[in-house]
Amino acid sequence: MKEIIFMKVLQQLLSNKFSRKYLLKKLDNYIYTSFVENDDKTIHKAKVRKYQFMASLLRCALQNVEKGYLSRNVFKRISQLMLTNSYPRKQRYSKKLEEFKTRYGKYPPNFIVLSPTKACNLNCTGCYASSDPHSGAKLPYHMVDRIISEVHDTFHSNFVVISGGEPFLYKSEGKTLLDIFEEYNDMFFLMYTNGTLITPEIAKKLESLGNVTPAVSVEGFEADTDERRGKGTHKKIMESLENLRNAGVPFGISVTATSKNADTLLEDEFYDYFFNRQGATYMWQFQLMPIGRSSNAFDLMVPPEKRLKLYRKWEECITQKKYSVADFWNSGVLSNGCIAYGRRGGYFYIDWNGNIMPCVFVPYYVDNVYELYNNGKSLVDALFSDLMKNGRAWQSKMGHGYAHPDHPDNWLMPCSIRDHYDNFRRNILTETAAGESEEAEEARNDEEYYRKLVEYDQELEKLTGDIWEQEYMQYEKEEAGK
Ligand code: SF4
Repeated sequence: MKEIIFMKVLQQLLSNKFSRKYLLKKLDNYIYTSFVENDDKTIHKAKVRKYQFMASLLRCALQNVEKGYLSRNVFKRISQLMLTNSYPRKQRYSKKLEEFKTRYGKYPPNFIVLSPTKACNLNCTGCYASSDPHSGAKLPYHMVDRIISEVHDTFHSNFVVISGGEPFLYKSEGKTLLDIFEEYNDMFFLMYTNGTLITPEIAKKLESLGNVTPAVSVEGFEADTDERRGKGTHKKIMESLENLRNAGVPFGISVTATSKNADTLLEDEFYDYFFNRQGATYMWQFQLMPIGRSSNAFDLMVPPEKRLKLYRKWEECITQKKYSVADFWNSGVLSNGCIAYGRRGGYFYIDWNGNIMPCVFVPYYVDNVYELYNNGKSLVDALFSDLMKNGRAWQSKMGHGYAHPDHPDNWLMPCSIRDHYDNFRRNILTETAAGESEEAEEARNDEEYYRKLVEYDQELEKLTGDIWEQEYMQYEKEEAGK
Protein backbone atom coordinates (compact mmCIF):
# COMPACT_ATOMS: atom_id res chain seq x y z
CA MET A 1 0.00 0.00 0.00
CA LYS A 2 2.79 2.39 1.02
CA GLU A 3 4.51 1.62 -2.28
CA ILE A 4 1.40 2.50 -4.29
CA ILE A 5 1.06 5.84 -2.47
CA PHE A 6 4.79 6.55 -2.95
CA MET A 7 4.53 5.81 -6.68
CA LYS A 8 1.52 8.09 -7.06
CA VAL A 9 3.26 10.96 -5.24
CA LEU A 10 6.41 10.47 -7.31
CA GLN A 11 4.47 10.47 -10.57
CA GLN A 12 2.63 13.59 -9.48
CA LEU A 13 5.89 15.36 -8.66
CA LEU A 14 7.33 14.42 -12.05
CA SER A 15 4.32 15.66 -13.95
CA ASN A 16 5.20 19.37 -14.09
CA LYS A 17 8.29 21.51 -14.37
CA PHE A 18 8.04 23.22 -10.96
CA SER A 19 7.42 20.10 -8.91
CA ARG A 20 10.24 18.36 -10.83
CA LYS A 21 12.57 21.13 -9.74
CA TYR A 22 11.41 20.65 -6.17
CA LEU A 23 11.94 16.88 -6.46
CA LEU A 24 15.44 17.35 -7.88
CA LYS A 25 16.39 19.59 -4.93
CA LYS A 26 14.96 17.16 -2.37
CA LEU A 27 16.66 14.13 -3.93
CA ASP A 28 19.92 16.03 -4.31
CA ASN A 29 19.87 16.80 -0.57
CA TYR A 30 19.08 13.17 0.18
CA ILE A 31 22.05 12.01 -1.89
CA TYR A 32 24.35 14.49 -0.15
CA THR A 33 23.22 13.30 3.27
CA SER A 34 23.60 9.62 2.32
CA PHE A 35 27.00 9.87 0.66
CA VAL A 36 28.69 12.65 2.59
CA GLU A 37 27.09 13.22 5.98
CA ASN A 38 26.18 9.63 6.86
CA ASP A 39 29.55 8.13 5.89
CA ASP A 40 32.03 8.68 8.69
CA LYS A 41 34.67 6.30 7.33
CA THR A 42 35.65 7.30 3.79
CA ILE A 43 38.00 10.22 3.09
CA HIS A 44 36.11 13.47 2.57
CA LYS A 45 37.01 14.25 -1.03
CA ALA A 46 36.05 10.74 -2.21
CA LYS A 47 32.65 11.12 -0.52
CA VAL A 48 32.14 14.43 -2.29
CA ARG A 49 33.04 12.87 -5.65
CA LYS A 50 30.48 10.08 -5.04
CA TYR A 51 27.82 12.67 -4.28
CA GLN A 52 28.74 14.66 -7.41
CA PHE A 53 28.49 11.57 -9.59
CA MET A 54 25.14 10.44 -8.13
CA ALA A 55 23.71 13.97 -8.33
CA SER A 56 24.77 14.11 -11.99
CA LEU A 57 23.10 10.75 -12.64
CA LEU A 58 19.89 12.02 -11.07
CA ARG A 59 20.03 15.21 -13.11
CA CYS A 60 20.58 13.34 -16.40
CA ALA A 61 17.76 10.89 -15.59
CA LEU A 62 15.27 13.65 -14.73
CA GLN A 63 16.25 15.57 -17.83
CA ASN A 64 15.40 12.52 -19.91
CA VAL A 65 12.06 12.14 -18.10
CA GLU A 66 11.37 15.75 -19.06
CA LYS A 67 12.21 15.03 -22.70
CA GLY A 68 9.89 12.01 -22.73
CA TYR A 69 12.72 9.49 -23.15
CA LEU A 70 11.57 7.34 -20.23
CA SER A 71 8.29 5.42 -20.53
CA ARG A 72 5.79 5.26 -17.64
CA ASN A 73 6.30 1.53 -17.34
CA VAL A 74 10.10 1.78 -17.13
CA PHE A 75 9.80 4.58 -14.61
CA LYS A 76 7.43 2.45 -12.52
CA ARG A 77 9.66 -0.63 -12.67
CA ILE A 78 12.84 1.27 -11.77
CA SER A 79 11.08 3.00 -8.87
CA GLN A 80 9.81 -0.38 -7.65
CA LEU A 81 13.30 -1.83 -7.80
CA MET A 82 14.61 1.19 -5.90
CA LEU A 83 11.94 0.61 -3.28
CA THR A 84 13.49 -2.80 -2.71
CA ASN A 85 16.07 -0.74 -0.88
CA SER A 86 13.45 0.86 1.36
CA TYR A 87 14.08 0.66 5.07
CA PRO A 88 12.35 -2.62 6.14
CA ARG A 89 13.64 -4.44 3.06
CA LYS A 90 17.10 -3.02 3.58
CA GLN A 91 17.06 -4.43 7.09
CA ARG A 92 16.07 -7.88 5.80
CA TYR A 93 18.79 -7.61 3.16
CA SER A 94 21.44 -6.65 5.73
CA LYS A 95 20.40 -9.63 7.84
CA LYS A 96 20.93 -11.98 4.90
CA LEU A 97 24.35 -10.49 4.22
CA GLU A 98 25.33 -10.96 7.85
CA GLU A 99 24.17 -14.59 7.66
CA PHE A 100 26.34 -15.08 4.56
CA LYS A 101 29.30 -13.57 6.38
CA THR A 102 28.79 -15.76 9.45
CA ARG A 103 28.66 -18.83 7.24
CA TYR A 104 31.52 -18.08 4.84
CA GLY A 105 33.66 -15.53 6.66
CA LYS A 106 33.18 -12.73 4.13
CA TYR A 107 30.40 -10.69 2.59
CA PRO A 108 29.16 -11.70 -0.88
CA PRO A 109 29.98 -9.56 -3.91
CA ASN A 110 27.27 -7.08 -4.94
CA PHE A 111 26.95 -8.34 -8.50
CA ILE A 112 28.58 -10.36 -11.26
CA VAL A 113 29.44 -9.62 -14.87
CA LEU A 114 28.38 -12.44 -17.17
CA SER A 115 29.26 -12.89 -20.85
CA PRO A 116 26.97 -15.66 -22.11
CA THR A 117 28.35 -15.61 -25.66
CA LYS A 118 31.62 -14.84 -27.39
CA ALA A 119 29.95 -14.34 -30.77
CA CYS A 120 29.77 -10.81 -32.08
CA ASN A 121 28.69 -9.38 -35.41
CA LEU A 122 31.56 -6.85 -35.29
CA ASN A 123 35.31 -7.35 -35.08
CA CYS A 124 36.75 -4.33 -33.23
CA THR A 125 40.47 -3.65 -32.92
CA GLY A 126 41.77 -4.39 -29.40
CA CYS A 127 38.47 -5.92 -28.13
CA TYR A 128 39.14 -7.31 -24.60
CA ALA A 129 36.91 -10.29 -25.43
CA SER A 130 38.63 -10.99 -28.78
CA SER A 131 35.11 -11.64 -30.02
CA ASP A 132 34.48 -12.70 -33.57
CA PRO A 133 31.49 -13.38 -35.79
CA HIS A 134 32.19 -17.10 -36.13
CA SER A 135 32.67 -18.03 -32.50
CA GLY A 136 30.21 -20.60 -31.25
CA ALA A 137 31.41 -20.38 -27.64
CA LYS A 138 28.47 -19.80 -25.34
CA LEU A 139 26.90 -20.91 -22.11
CA PRO A 140 23.72 -22.95 -22.53
CA TYR A 141 20.56 -21.26 -21.33
CA HIS A 142 20.06 -23.58 -18.36
CA MET A 143 23.57 -22.66 -17.17
CA VAL A 144 22.94 -18.90 -17.48
CA ASP A 145 19.72 -19.49 -15.56
CA ARG A 146 21.50 -21.41 -12.81
CA ILE A 147 24.23 -18.79 -12.41
CA ILE A 148 21.77 -15.92 -12.15
CA SER A 149 19.58 -17.83 -9.75
CA GLU A 150 22.59 -18.37 -7.49
CA VAL A 151 23.53 -14.70 -7.62
CA HIS A 152 19.94 -13.87 -6.72
CA ASP A 153 19.39 -16.46 -3.98
CA THR A 154 22.84 -16.89 -2.44
CA PHE A 155 24.52 -13.51 -2.92
CA HIS A 156 21.14 -11.79 -2.39
CA SER A 157 22.00 -9.51 -5.27
CA ASN A 158 19.45 -7.90 -7.56
CA PHE A 159 21.94 -6.63 -10.12
CA VAL A 160 23.74 -8.40 -12.99
CA VAL A 161 25.85 -6.91 -15.77
CA ILE A 162 25.70 -8.69 -19.12
CA SER A 163 28.65 -8.33 -21.46
CA GLY A 164 29.92 -10.14 -24.53
CA GLY A 165 30.37 -10.90 -27.36
CA GLU A 166 27.15 -9.29 -28.46
CA PRO A 167 24.38 -10.27 -26.01
CA PHE A 168 21.59 -9.69 -28.56
CA LEU A 169 23.07 -12.52 -30.67
CA TYR A 170 22.67 -15.00 -27.81
CA LYS A 171 20.25 -17.85 -28.42
CA SER A 172 20.24 -21.23 -26.71
CA GLU A 173 17.64 -23.93 -26.03
CA GLY A 174 15.16 -21.81 -27.99
CA LYS A 175 15.58 -18.85 -25.64
CA THR A 176 17.34 -15.48 -25.55
CA LEU A 177 18.49 -13.21 -22.75
CA LEU A 178 15.13 -11.45 -22.90
CA ASP A 179 13.71 -14.63 -21.33
CA ILE A 180 16.20 -14.28 -18.47
CA PHE A 181 15.22 -10.63 -17.92
CA GLU A 182 11.58 -11.68 -17.84
CA GLU A 183 12.18 -14.57 -15.47
CA TYR A 184 14.17 -12.47 -12.99
CA ASN A 185 11.85 -9.49 -12.94
CA ASP A 186 12.93 -8.40 -9.46
CA MET A 187 16.50 -7.93 -10.71
CA PHE A 188 18.02 -5.13 -12.77
CA PHE A 189 20.31 -5.77 -15.75
CA LEU A 190 22.88 -3.51 -17.36
CA MET A 191 23.75 -4.87 -20.77
CA TYR A 192 26.80 -3.85 -22.81
CA THR A 193 25.92 -4.01 -26.47
CA ASN A 194 27.39 -2.80 -29.73
CA GLY A 195 23.94 -1.39 -30.40
CA THR A 196 23.64 -2.56 -33.98
CA LEU A 197 20.82 -5.04 -33.30
CA ILE A 198 18.37 -2.88 -31.33
CA THR A 199 15.42 -2.76 -33.70
CA PRO A 200 12.17 -0.91 -32.83
CA GLU A 201 10.72 -4.33 -31.80
CA ILE A 202 13.64 -5.13 -29.47
CA ALA A 203 13.42 -1.63 -27.97
CA LYS A 204 9.69 -2.13 -27.35
CA LYS A 205 10.34 -5.46 -25.66
CA LEU A 206 12.98 -3.87 -23.41
CA GLU A 207 10.45 -1.18 -22.53
CA SER A 208 7.81 -3.72 -21.56
CA LEU A 209 10.35 -5.59 -19.40
CA GLY A 210 11.45 -2.37 -17.70
CA ASN A 211 14.43 -3.91 -15.86
CA VAL A 212 17.18 -3.54 -18.47
CA THR A 213 19.36 -0.63 -19.51
CA PRO A 214 21.60 -1.03 -22.56
CA ALA A 215 25.04 0.61 -22.46
CA VAL A 216 25.75 1.11 -26.14
CA SER A 217 29.38 1.15 -27.31
CA VAL A 218 30.62 4.21 -29.18
CA GLU A 219 34.18 5.29 -29.85
CA GLY A 220 33.58 8.99 -30.41
CA PHE A 221 31.97 10.50 -33.45
CA GLU A 222 31.39 8.74 -36.76
CA ALA A 223 35.03 8.64 -37.90
CA ASP A 224 36.33 7.18 -34.58
CA THR A 225 33.55 4.58 -34.31
CA ASP A 226 33.72 3.46 -37.92
CA GLU A 227 37.50 3.22 -37.81
CA ARG A 228 37.54 0.82 -34.85
CA ARG A 229 34.21 -0.96 -35.37
CA GLY A 230 33.75 -0.98 -39.13
CA LYS A 231 32.20 1.33 -41.71
CA GLY A 232 28.51 2.11 -41.22
CA THR A 233 28.51 1.12 -37.52
CA HIS A 234 28.00 4.68 -36.24
CA LYS A 235 24.88 5.11 -38.37
CA LYS A 236 23.39 1.84 -37.10
CA ILE A 237 24.12 2.89 -33.51
CA MET A 238 22.36 6.22 -34.02
CA GLU A 239 19.29 4.36 -35.29
CA SER A 240 19.35 2.12 -32.21
CA LEU A 241 19.53 5.12 -29.88
CA GLU A 242 16.54 6.59 -31.66
CA ASN A 243 14.64 3.32 -31.22
CA LEU A 244 15.44 3.31 -27.50
CA ARG A 245 14.34 6.96 -27.10
CA ASN A 246 11.11 6.32 -28.99
CA ALA A 247 10.33 3.32 -26.82
CA GLY A 248 11.27 5.15 -23.59
CA VAL A 249 14.13 2.88 -22.53
CA PRO A 250 16.91 4.58 -20.50
CA PHE A 251 20.33 3.93 -21.98
CA GLY A 252 23.94 4.89 -21.54
CA ILE A 253 27.01 4.85 -23.70
CA SER A 254 30.16 2.87 -23.18
CA VAL A 255 33.45 4.10 -24.59
CA THR A 256 36.82 2.43 -24.87
CA ALA A 257 39.39 5.18 -24.58
CA THR A 258 42.45 4.63 -26.77
CA SER A 259 45.40 6.73 -27.85
CA LYS A 260 43.41 7.38 -31.04
CA ASN A 261 40.16 8.74 -29.62
CA ALA A 262 41.46 10.32 -26.37
CA ASP A 263 41.49 13.80 -27.92
CA THR A 264 37.82 13.46 -28.87
CA LEU A 265 37.07 12.48 -25.27
CA LEU A 266 38.73 15.66 -24.07
CA GLU A 267 36.25 17.81 -26.01
CA ASP A 268 33.01 19.15 -24.51
CA GLU A 269 31.33 18.56 -27.83
CA PHE A 270 31.46 14.79 -27.36
CA TYR A 271 29.61 14.86 -24.02
CA ASP A 272 27.15 17.56 -25.13
CA TYR A 273 26.30 15.46 -28.16
CA PHE A 274 25.61 12.16 -26.38
CA PHE A 275 24.03 13.52 -23.19
CA ASN A 276 22.07 16.49 -24.52
CA ARG A 277 21.27 15.55 -28.08
CA GLN A 278 21.14 11.76 -27.93
CA GLY A 279 19.64 11.41 -24.44
CA ALA A 280 22.24 9.18 -22.73
CA THR A 281 21.65 8.89 -18.99
CA TYR A 282 25.18 7.73 -18.13
CA MET A 283 28.56 7.00 -19.69
CA TRP A 284 31.07 4.34 -18.68
CA GLN A 285 34.58 4.78 -19.95
CA PHE A 286 37.12 1.97 -20.14
CA GLN A 287 40.69 2.60 -21.15
CA LEU A 288 42.03 -0.01 -23.50
CA MET A 289 43.97 -2.67 -21.63
CA PRO A 290 46.61 -4.36 -23.79
CA ILE A 291 46.15 -8.10 -23.55
CA GLY A 292 48.88 -9.90 -25.40
CA ARG A 293 52.20 -8.48 -26.40
CA SER A 294 51.34 -7.12 -29.83
CA SER A 295 52.80 -3.66 -30.22
CA ASN A 296 49.51 -2.65 -31.78
CA ALA A 297 47.74 -3.12 -28.43
CA PHE A 298 50.38 -1.02 -26.64
CA ASP A 299 50.17 1.70 -29.28
CA LEU A 300 46.43 1.90 -28.65
CA MET A 301 46.80 2.25 -24.87
CA VAL A 302 46.15 5.77 -23.52
CA PRO A 303 49.57 7.11 -22.39
CA PRO A 304 49.84 8.22 -18.71
CA GLU A 305 49.87 11.97 -19.37
CA LYS A 306 46.71 11.66 -21.50
CA ARG A 307 45.12 9.54 -18.81
CA LEU A 308 45.70 12.40 -16.39
CA LYS A 309 44.00 14.81 -18.79
CA LEU A 310 41.06 12.42 -19.02
CA TYR A 311 40.97 12.39 -15.21
CA ARG A 312 40.62 16.19 -15.18
CA LYS A 313 37.95 15.96 -17.87
CA TRP A 314 36.02 13.47 -15.75
CA GLU A 315 36.18 15.87 -12.77
CA GLU A 316 34.86 18.65 -14.97
CA CYS A 317 32.02 16.42 -16.25
CA ILE A 318 30.64 15.60 -12.80
CA THR A 319 31.35 18.95 -11.12
CA GLN A 320 30.57 21.53 -13.81
CA LYS A 321 28.70 19.97 -16.69
CA LYS A 322 26.87 17.51 -14.41
CA TYR A 323 27.13 14.60 -16.81
CA SER A 324 27.17 11.19 -15.11
CA VAL A 325 30.46 9.84 -16.39
CA ALA A 326 32.57 7.16 -14.69
CA ASP A 327 35.97 6.06 -15.95
CA PHE A 328 36.97 2.58 -14.75
CA TRP A 329 40.55 3.62 -14.06
CA ASN A 330 40.30 7.33 -13.29
CA SER A 331 37.19 7.22 -11.10
CA GLY A 332 38.50 4.77 -8.50
CA VAL A 333 37.34 7.11 -5.74
CA LEU A 334 33.69 6.37 -6.65
CA SER A 335 34.02 2.71 -5.70
CA ASN A 336 36.64 2.84 -2.93
CA GLY A 337 39.20 1.56 -5.42
CA CYS A 338 39.37 -1.79 -7.18
CA ILE A 339 36.08 -3.73 -7.11
CA ALA A 340 37.37 -7.06 -8.51
CA TYR A 341 38.03 -10.44 -6.82
CA GLY A 342 34.46 -10.76 -5.50
CA ARG A 343 35.11 -8.21 -2.78
CA ARG A 344 32.26 -6.81 -0.72
CA GLY A 345 30.56 -4.15 -2.84
CA GLY A 346 32.36 -5.55 -5.89
CA TYR A 347 32.10 -8.35 -8.40
CA PHE A 348 33.68 -11.16 -10.39
CA TYR A 349 33.37 -12.17 -14.02
CA ILE A 350 32.15 -15.33 -15.78
CA ASP A 351 32.80 -15.80 -19.49
CA TRP A 352 31.16 -17.91 -22.24
CA ASN A 353 33.28 -20.94 -21.31
CA GLY A 354 32.16 -20.73 -17.69
CA ASN A 355 35.61 -19.57 -16.53
CA ILE A 356 35.45 -17.42 -13.42
CA MET A 357 37.79 -14.45 -13.43
CA PRO A 358 38.41 -11.71 -10.86
CA CYS A 359 37.49 -8.99 -13.35
CA VAL A 360 36.77 -8.50 -17.04
CA PHE A 361 40.29 -7.05 -17.32
CA VAL A 362 42.10 -9.77 -15.35
CA PRO A 363 42.10 -12.63 -17.87
CA TYR A 364 43.11 -15.47 -15.51
CA TYR A 365 40.96 -18.07 -13.80
CA VAL A 366 41.14 -20.96 -11.39
CA ASP A 367 37.52 -22.11 -11.25
CA ASN A 368 35.00 -22.95 -13.91
CA VAL A 369 31.23 -23.14 -13.36
CA TYR A 370 30.86 -26.53 -15.08
CA GLU A 371 33.53 -28.09 -12.86
CA LEU A 372 32.15 -26.47 -9.73
CA TYR A 373 28.60 -27.62 -10.37
CA ASN A 374 29.70 -31.13 -11.45
CA ASN A 375 31.56 -31.45 -8.15
CA GLY A 376 28.60 -30.37 -6.06
CA LYS A 377 30.10 -26.93 -5.43
CA SER A 378 28.77 -23.44 -6.05
CA LEU A 379 29.88 -19.93 -7.04
CA VAL A 380 30.66 -19.30 -3.38
CA ASP A 381 33.58 -21.75 -3.65
CA ALA A 382 35.08 -19.66 -6.47
CA LEU A 383 35.44 -16.76 -4.03
CA PHE A 384 38.05 -18.70 -2.11
CA SER A 385 40.62 -19.65 -4.73
CA ASP A 386 44.13 -18.35 -3.99
CA LEU A 387 43.85 -15.96 -6.93
CA MET A 388 40.71 -14.34 -5.49
CA LYS A 389 42.08 -14.34 -1.95
CA ASN A 390 45.41 -12.82 -3.06
CA GLY A 391 43.56 -10.06 -4.89
CA ARG A 392 41.41 -9.27 -1.86
CA ALA A 393 44.44 -9.33 0.44
CA TRP A 394 46.12 -6.72 -1.80
CA GLN A 395 42.92 -4.63 -1.88
CA SER A 396 42.72 -4.77 1.87
CA LYS A 397 46.36 -3.82 2.36
CA MET A 398 46.02 -0.86 -0.02
CA GLY A 399 42.77 0.39 1.52
CA HIS A 400 40.54 -0.60 -1.38
CA GLY A 401 36.99 -1.57 -0.48
CA TYR A 402 35.93 -1.06 3.09
CA ALA A 403 39.14 -2.13 4.82
CA HIS A 404 40.41 1.31 5.83
CA PRO A 405 38.83 3.92 3.54
CA ASP A 406 39.93 6.62 5.99
CA HIS A 407 43.59 6.27 4.93
CA PRO A 408 43.66 4.55 1.54
CA ASP A 409 46.51 4.24 -0.88
CA ASN A 410 46.33 6.24 -4.13
CA TRP A 411 42.86 5.54 -5.57
CA LEU A 412 43.85 7.39 -8.74
CA MET A 413 45.79 4.19 -9.51
CA PRO A 414 43.16 1.64 -8.49
CA CYS A 415 43.79 -1.19 -10.92
CA SER A 416 45.31 -4.38 -9.52
CA ILE A 417 46.64 -5.44 -12.92
CA ARG A 418 47.02 -2.36 -15.06
CA ASP A 419 48.34 0.10 -12.44
CA HIS A 420 50.25 -2.35 -10.22
CA TYR A 421 51.50 -4.92 -12.69
CA ASP A 422 54.67 -5.88 -10.83
CA ASN A 423 52.64 -6.64 -7.71
CA PHE A 424 50.06 -8.51 -9.80
CA ARG A 425 52.69 -10.83 -11.26
CA ARG A 426 54.51 -11.36 -7.97
CA ASN A 427 51.73 -11.43 -5.36
CA ILE A 428 48.35 -12.01 -6.97
CA LEU A 429 48.68 -14.25 -10.03
CA THR A 430 49.18 -17.87 -8.96
CA GLU A 431 50.77 -20.81 -10.77
CA THR A 432 47.43 -22.62 -10.75
CA ALA A 433 45.62 -19.78 -12.53
CA ALA A 434 45.25 -20.29 -16.28
CA GLY A 435 45.05 -17.59 -18.94
CA GLU A 436 41.64 -17.38 -20.59
CA SER A 437 43.27 -16.88 -24.00
CA GLU A 438 46.60 -17.58 -25.71
CA GLU A 439 47.47 -13.89 -25.43
CA ALA A 440 46.89 -13.90 -21.68
CA GLU A 441 49.07 -17.00 -21.30
CA GLU A 442 51.82 -15.40 -23.38
CA ALA A 443 51.66 -12.15 -21.44
CA ARG A 444 52.28 -13.77 -18.05
CA ASN A 445 55.81 -14.82 -19.07
CA ASP A 446 56.64 -12.08 -21.50
CA GLU A 447 59.41 -9.77 -20.31
CA GLU A 448 58.63 -7.00 -22.75
CA TYR A 449 54.98 -6.94 -21.73
CA TYR A 450 56.10 -6.79 -18.09
CA ARG A 451 58.59 -3.99 -18.74
CA LYS A 452 56.13 -1.84 -20.67
CA LEU A 453 53.40 -2.09 -18.06
CA VAL A 454 55.78 -1.50 -15.16
CA GLU A 455 57.16 1.61 -16.90
CA TYR A 456 53.60 2.79 -17.45
CA ASP A 457 52.85 2.33 -13.73
CA GLN A 458 55.97 4.21 -12.64
CA GLU A 459 55.10 7.11 -14.89
CA LEU A 460 51.53 7.15 -13.59
CA GLU A 461 52.74 7.14 -10.00
CA LYS A 462 54.88 10.21 -10.72
CA LEU A 463 51.92 12.00 -12.27
CA THR A 464 49.23 11.14 -9.75
CA GLY A 465 51.10 10.78 -6.43
CA ASP A 466 51.16 14.52 -5.65
CA ILE A 467 47.59 15.03 -6.82
CA TRP A 468 46.45 12.31 -4.49
CA GLU A 469 48.36 13.74 -1.54
CA GLN A 470 47.44 17.37 -2.13
CA GLU A 471 43.89 17.11 -3.41
CA TYR A 472 42.61 14.10 -1.49
CA MET A 473 44.70 13.48 1.62
CA GLN A 474 45.57 17.04 2.61
CA TYR A 475 42.05 17.66 3.95
CA GLU A 476 42.34 14.57 6.17
CA LYS A 477 45.72 15.71 7.50
CA GLU A 478 44.38 19.18 8.27
CA GLU A 479 41.32 17.72 10.01
CA ALA A 480 43.54 15.36 12.01
CA GLY A 481 45.77 18.30 13.04
CA LYS A 482 42.85 20.36 14.41
S1 SF4 B 1 41.21 -5.07 -11.56
FE1 SF4 B 1 41.31 -3.02 -12.48
S2 SF4 B 1 39.67 -2.96 -13.99
FE2 SF4 B 1 39.26 -4.70 -12.61
S3 SF4 B 1 37.93 -3.85 -11.02
FE3 SF4 B 1 40.02 -3.68 -10.25
S4 SF4 B 1 40.54 -1.60 -10.87
FE4 SF4 B 1 38.80 -2.13 -12.10
